[in-house]
Amino acid sequence: MKIRAEYIWIDGQKPTAKMRSKTKILDVKDIPASSDDVPRWGFDGSSTSQATTDASDLDLVPVCAIPDPIRGAPNILVLCEVYHPDGRPHESNTRAVLRKSLKKYQKQCEPWFGFEQEYTLYDKDGIWPLRWPQGGGYPAPQGGYYCGVGSDEVFGTELIEAHTLALLDAGLAIAGTNAEVMASQWEFQIGGPNATASTAADHLWLARWILYRLGEHFGITVKLDPKPIVGDWNGAGCHTNFSTNSMREENGLDAIFKACEKLKGFHKEHIWVYGAHNDERLTGAHETCPITDFRYAMGHRGCSIRIPAGVAKNRRGYLEDRRPAANIDPYQVCTAILETVCGKRFNPGAFRYFYDEKHRRMMRGLFD
Ligand code: ADP
Ligand code: MN
Ligand code: MN
Ligand code: MN
Repeated sequence: MKIRAEYIWIDGQKPTAKMRSKTKILDVKDIPASSDDVPRWGFDGSSTSQATTDASDLDLVPVCAIPDPIRGAPNILVLCEVYHPDGRPHESNTRAVLRKSLKKYQKQCEPWFGFEQEYTLYDKDGIWPLRWPQGGGYPAPQGGYYCGVGSDEVFGTELIEAHTLALLDAGLAIAGTNAEVMASQWEFQIGGPNATASTAADHLWLARWILYRLGEHFGITVKLDPKPIVGDWNGAGCHTNFSTNSMREENGLDAIFKACEKLKGFHKEHIWVYGAHNDERLTGAHETCPITDFRYAMGHRGCSIRIPAGVAKNRRGYLEDRRPAANIDPYQVCTAILETVCGKRFNPGAFRYFYDEKHRRMMRGLFD
């Protein structure tokens, strides 16, 4: 039987990597049961900001295979890590860095991650938000759009519904969706209870890819800019919900406060990997805390870390890191949180491949 396998990987564009994919026809007896049954492949790294022309061959190593919800079974989607031909993980392979942290802390801390991915829909050319007045006009001021209903309040429902169904078909850990505060902005939640860092992060990347590809079918462009429209319009984040076994136990609130204190000590290091141009979003307005401040509190949406009211009441549960921008690499964010909370310190140097001069300048301007 011949099936189509879509090999998906993360490129080396700085400071924000893009997703890439290509199709391989596989001749198989059965549908591959896991990524171990899918052959390795390769690509031209000189066309993805990952190599030079004279040494352009890079390897794709399958790490997660799921049914393809767009082409339908028996076709599959295959998420890959990028390697050098000599067997070393490529410098842009942030999942390999996360794997090292998980080796250290998975057993001891049993961490769970849940992401709230916000994103903005644009017209098919990606120029202006979907169904905003043509030629650069603005819709009514925000206020009625969040969790709104009706064709004048929410734009793009047809894509959102198709995306949710696709993720369910593919067996991804989607937990919910909602229309956001800015018109044409939406959110889906993925991961959560029982989702390890690699599950939540792999599923987030795959969910993004499915959203982009479905958008092609609907003539809608999806973007993850942290601050798509300047002015009185909410930015787009990727709140990261996190818990360890000790936070989930009775009186886990103590462990949650301890984690907040540790996170406070490495605020700057976390901001390094919490998304490019996040300074445009974390201004102190629009339900954010200024990027140079670190605050935590219960039920407060102007904080860096929010402890949900239900968690405070039960004295156990999880914390919500509100700092990550919509354009984060979840592998980097999970690594940062694991190293700071389960370990002793986080050093963003492991991800230096992605710090371009613009990002360094933003960090210097903010913290020096
Ligand atoms: P809000 O918009 O109020 O911040 P959401 O409902 O959008 O909250 O997102 C909360 C996320 O937290 C959900 O996706 C859920 O799966 C996740 N979550 C719940 N419990 C835990 C936990 N113990 N550990 C990690 N994530 C969790
Ligand atoms: Mn949410
Ligand atoms: Mn939200
Ligand atoms: Mn949230």
